Amino acid sequence: MPAFAPPSLVPPSPSNAYAPAPLADAPLRHALDASDNAIILTNSARRVVYVNDGFTRLFGYQPAEVLGRILSEVLLGPHSNPDLLERIRTNLQTCGQFRTDTLLYSKTGQPRWVSLVINASDEDTGGPGGSISILTDITLTKMHEVLQTRVLEGMVNELPLSDLMALVCREVQRIAPEVTATILAVDAQGRLHPLAAPSLPESISRTLDGLPIGPTVGSCGTAAFLNTPVLVTDIRTDPLWADYKDLFAPSGLRACWSSPIRDHRGEPIGTFAFYFREPRAPDALHQRLVQVCLHLCALAIERDSTHQRIHQLAFFDVLTGLPNRALFRNSADRALTDLQQGGHTGALLFLDLDRFKQINETQGHAAGDVLLSEVAKRLTQGLRARDLIARLSGDEFVLLLSECTTEQAVQSAHRVLHDIAQPLNILGQTHVPHASIGIAMFPNDGDTIDTLLRHADQAMHQAKSDHRHSMQLFSAEMNRRAQERASLERALQQALSERSLTLHYQPQVLSSSPGTLHGVEALARWNHPQWGMVPPSQFIPVAEDAGLIHELTLWLLDEACRQLAAWRAAGHDVPCVAVNLSGRSFHRPEFSQEIGDALQRHGLRTSDVLLEITESVMMDARPVTLKNIEALHHQGFKLSLDDFGTGYSSLSYLHRLPISELKLDMAFVQDLTTSATARALTVSVLSIAHSLGMVVVAEGVETTGQQQWLQAHGCPVMQGYLFGKPLPPDEIEAWLCAQAPSPYR
Ligand code: C2E
Ligand code: MG
Ligand code: MG
Repeated sequence: MPAFAPPSLVPPSPSNAYAPAPLADAPLRHALDASDNAIILTNSARRVVYVNDGFTRLFGYQPAEVLGRILSEVLLGPHSNPDLLERIRTNLQTCGQFRTDTLLYSKTGQPRWVSLVINASDEDTGGPGGSISILTDITLTKMHEVLQTRVLEGMVNELPLSDLMALVCREVQRIAPEVTATILAVDAQGRLHPLAAPSLPESISRTLDGLPIGPTVGSCGTAAFLNTPVLVTDIRTDPLWADYKDLFAPSGLRACWSSPIRDHRGEPIGTFAFYFREPRAPDALHQRLVQVCLHLCALAIERDSTHQRIHQLAFFDVLTGLPNRALFRNSADRALTDLQQGGHTGALLFLDLDRFKQINETQGHAAGDVLLSEVAKRLTQGLRARDLIARLSGDEFVLLLSECTTEQAVQSAHRVLHDIAQPLNILGQTHVPHASIGIAMFPNDGDTIDTLLRHADQAMHQAKSDHRHSMQLFSAEMNRRAQERASLERALQQALSERSLTLHYQPQVLSSSPGTLHGVEALARWNHPQWGMVPPSQFIPVAEDAGLIHELTLWLLDEACRQLAAWRAAGHDVPCVAVNLSGRSFHRPEFSQEIGDALQRHGLRTSDVLLEITESVMMDARPVTLKNIEALHHQGFKLSLDDFGTGYSSLSYLHRLPISELKLDMAFVQDLTTSATARALTVSVLSIAHSLGMVVVAEGVETTGQQQWLQAHGCPVMQGYLFGKPLPPDEIEAWLCAQAPSPYR
C-alpha cells in the first residue's frame, strides 16, 4: 500500500515538456541507468522530466508514473521532514545547490532514507529554472544509526529492559512491516522469558515464559540451545515446531527465523526472532536488520544484568542475601507511610547476637559466617509477606513488623528468641545461638525510621545488660539515660582535649607503721563546670565505650609521673605512684612502649610506678595483651591486681603472670567484722599471696576494727579513708608533713 494517495497525474504540457539534449545520447543514458543512484531532472515548473532506472529500482515507480508530476507529491510520506520543500527552494535560489539526508517513501510505502543532492540546472545541464537531483539509498546506514541512537538513548535514560526491547521490535517492524519481531531472554537455568513481543498475542508470550531451551523447541528454544540461527520456513511442517505449531496457529504466523543474542563471551543470553505470515526465508534487508539489532540487544541485556548485579551488591548483604541498611531504610520509609495512612501501629525489632565476637575470635570467621547465615534463615522463616527484614551490620538484624500491637511485638520477639536458640552445628561443634532484642513501637516510640532504629537499639542494649537472651521494650527513661550518656561522652571528650581532668592521690600505708607511705594511688577526678564532680564510676565506663580511655590513660600516666617527679624535686619522699590501666589499652601493640616513654620523660625508673590491672586483663588471651604484659615485665615494671576477689579470682593465673601485688577488694574488707566467710577468704588470699611472694594491699579500710584484724593477720599494706581520702597533690604534701616522723624523712 502506498503511504499516501497518489495525486492525479499531470501530463507534460508543451510549456513544461523539456527533453534534455544529453539524454538523447544512448551510451550516456545506459550509463545513467546503470547507476545505483536515482537521478531526476525537473523543469522550471518543478515537474519531472526525466528519471533513470536507478529511480525505479529505489522507489518502485515506472518513469511514466512520475513524468510531469511534482516530485514532492510522489515521494514525501508520513515521517518526511515537512520543511524539506521550503529548504530546497530557498537553497536553490540563494546558492544553487542543496544537500541533506532525508526520509522518502517508495511506491509501496516503504521508508527510504536517501542522501539527496540537488543542483539548479542551467542551459548546459537541463534548462534554466529546473533542477538535477541525485539520491543515494542510505536506508541501511540510517536504519543502523536510528536504531542505535534510539536504543542507546533509551539506555542512557534508564528505560527498563523490556521497554528498550519493545522499541527495537517496533523500529524493526516499521522498517520491515512484513515482520513480527520478538525478543526472548535466556536465564542462567536455560529457560526462555519473553522480553518484548509487541505484536505477538499475549497468550503466546505467557505460554513461552519459563520454557526450557532444547534441541526441538521451536525456532527460539533451538537457536538458544544450539547457539546458532535457526530458520523454519514453514512452522506447520517443520519437526522443530511439532509441539508449538498449534499454539501459534491462530496467530497466522507461518515462518520463523530466530538468531541467538550472545554475551561478550559468546554465550546465548537471548533470541531475536522474525516471524512471517507466509512460508518464507528472510531477505537481505531482514538479515541486515538482525545483524544490527543483535549487537544492540546484547548490549542492552548485558547492561541490564550488570545493573541488577550492582543493585544486588549495593542493596543486599552478600553473606545472608538479606536487604542491607540502605534498602531497609528505603522500604521502611514507605512502610511507615502506609502504616500512618492506614492508622496502624508497627514494631521495630532490633536484634543483636550474644557473644558473637567470641565465636568469631575463638572459632574463626568461617564459623561466624555459618552462624549469621543460619540466623538470617531462621529470622526469615517466621516473617509475613508485609514484614521487612535486614542485616544492618555484623551481628545486628532488624525486623519491621507492620500492623502489629505491642503485645504482638512482644510475642514475636519471644518467638524469634526461641527460633534462634535451636541447637546448630558449626564446623563440628554444637552451638545454641542466643540474641538480645530491643523493641520500639511506631508511632509511639518514634515516627521516623531513624528514631525507631535508635530507640530499638537502646532497648536492645538494655536487654543485653539486664541479662542476655532477652527482649526489652523501649521506654522514655531509657532514652533519657542514653541522651545523658551521649552528652556525658561529648563533655568528657572536651575535658580531655582541654586537659581539665585532674588526679587525686590516695595514701597507701604500711600496716606496721600507718604513718609510713607504701605509695599513693592516682585516681582521676572530673569537676564539670555545670554538673560538679562526676565520679569515675560514671565517666570511666563512658570513656571505655567511647574509645576515649586510651587517651585518658596516656594523660594520667604522664600526669602521675610528672607529679611524682615534682614531689621528689620538692623533697617529698613518695616511694611510688599506682596508676589504674584499662584492659583496652593492652590491645594496642605500642602500649608497653608508651608507658616506658612516660617514665623517661620525667626521669623516673620502672620501680617508681605500679601498674594496676584488673582480672579481665589477666584473663585476656589475646596475643597482643600477653606481649604487652611480657614487655612490661621485661622492662622491670611491677603489676598490681586491682579489685581482687570480685571477678574470676582465678588463682592459677597468679603464678603464670608477673603479678607482684594483690589489692583485696573493699567488699571483703568491709565485711571482715561481720562475715566469717569474708574472714576465711581473706585469710586464704593473704596466705596464697605470701607463699607467692606478693604484697597484699587491703582497699577501703575505714575502721580501726578492720585495721586491727588485717594487721593481726599479716596484711602488709592498707588503703582507705581511715588513713586518708584521695587528695589533691598539695594536700598530700600536707598529709605527709602531718605524719609522725617516719624513716623516709
Ligand atoms: P579502684 O582502683 O579500686 O580505686 C579505689 C576506689 O575506692 C576509689 O574510688 C577510692 O576513692 C575508693 N576508696 C578508697 N578508700 C575508700 C574507703 O575507705 N571507703 C570507700 N567507700 N571508698 C574508698 P574512685 O576514685 O571513685 O574510683 C573508682 C574506680 O574508678 C577505681 O577503683 C578505678 O577502678 C576507677 N578509676 C579511678 N580513676 C581511674 C583512672 O585514672 N583510670 C582508670 N582506668 N580507672 C580509674
Ligand atoms: Mg585501683
Ligand atoms: Mg580497687
